[in-house]
Amino acid sequence: MPEPLSPGELLDLDRQHVWHPYGPMPGRTAPLLVESASGVRLRLAEPVEGRDELVDGMSSWWSAVHGYNHPVLNEAAHGQLERMSHVMFGGLTHEPAVRLAKRLVDITPEPLEHVFLADSGSVSVEVAVKMCLQYWRSLGKPRKQRLLTWRGGYHGDTWQPMSVCDPDGGMHELWQGVLPRQIFADAPPAGFDAAPDEAYAAQLRELIGRHAEELAAVIVEPVVQGAGGMSFHSPGYLRVLREACDAHGVLLVFDEIATGFGRTGSLFAAGHAGVTPDVMCLGKALTGGYLTLAATLCTADVADGISRGALPVLAHGPTFMGNPLAAAVAEASIELLLSQDWAQEVKRIETGLREGLAPAAEHAGVREVRVLGAIGVVQLDHEVDMAAATRAAVREGVWLRPFRDLIYTMPPYITGDDDLARICAAVCAAAREG
Ligand SMILES: *Cc1c(COP(=O)(O)O)cnc(C)c1O
Repeated sequence: MPEPLSPGELLDLDRQHVWHPYGPMPGRTAPLLVESASGVRLRLAEPVEGRDELVDGMSSWWSAVHGYNHPVLNEAAHGQLERMSHVMFGGLTHEPAVRLAKRLVDITPEPLEHVFLADSGSVSVEVAVKMCLQYWRSLGKPRKQRLLTWRGGYHGDTWQPMSVCDPDGGMHELWQGVLPRQIFADAPPAGFDAAPDEAYAAQLRELIGRHAEELAAVIVEPVVQGAGGMSFHSPGYLRVLREACDAHGVLLVFDEIATGFGRTGSLFAAGHAGVTPDVMCLGKALTGGYLTLAATLCTADVADGISRGALPVLAHGPTFMGNPLAAAVAEASIELLLSQDWAQEVKRIETGLREGLAPAAEHAGVREVRVLGAIGVVQLDHEVDMAAATRAAVREGVWLRPFRDLIYTMPPYITGDDDLARICAAVCAAAREG
């Protein structure tokens, strides 16, 4: 065993050597040092604000829907580890990947039929874009190579995904001349329950029609725009997109990396609209937050189109494609989700968030409180003071990670009512002090 390092030594080395998400080098604010995690609790290596345990309000960025250290997922991982952790996927296959792919085809909307297993959400979006562009090339329409999306989105941090992130929030200024230039509609009018705005729907139709010759696909996050601003919109716009795409010969991609597996109250957000995309990306909660894995699903039509091309293969093949360990845990996580009344649990959390976050609406400096499924958002009228907001939440015994003007939570579905109340109290405290 290597020499143990003290918390102080670990944090010092972390600051000197380790990049964190969207972080400077060297680090300017000390991250919290997590020793272990179980259920909905993160155990800290040393107390902070008098707390050595925090209730997790983030599900590790939408992923840990069953909480940490879950016996069922642990068993799936251990069992698979004993058989093999990984083998290459070129020329070889294995039960975990095959079973997972079949399960995904079964639970996603018809007629999604074929599955590409990638290693992260961003890569699954790259694969989705590649599928769409290759489809049109195969059909002899190489001019169809641009993408259309609406503002306020987030699709990942590699190049193609970045090009369809919100052009302001996604730092397109910085990457002028490097990023592919895509076509942007206005952000969808806010409100899950709001009646679709006809003028906005007309804008979507008009843009898709006008650019049809050069459009390979429309790509959006259905119903909830996550990291781009935590906003909700009417599922009606998804039907508008589906109809306009069909009318003008444009593919439709849904990025359900954040919304998949029940988070919005429907197993997939597409279900709110009864719309099936041609291509769908899944990630985040796919393995219950255990391992990195994502999937890009497509219809038989898209796959057949690609197969008719001069290069009749999908030209993508990551080293760790179909990783057996991740696939085995993913299948176990899906079984675990579907074996319970997950919709009831998400509903229970939705009710708890509505009640618990309502007081935040009274605070000066709060613009809006909104809840959908197991997602609770408090939007301020100013940029969050991250340090103050984090400290306020930790003092309440809760882990939150606000950004921009947003303090939000998407707790694990197993969060009990007491812990949920605690999370809500922490969001309110962070809104007051942040
Ligand atoms: C997180 C996220 C991604 C990127 O996934 P990574 O695994 O972080 O690469 C893409 N799209 C959406 C909607 C996401 O929430």
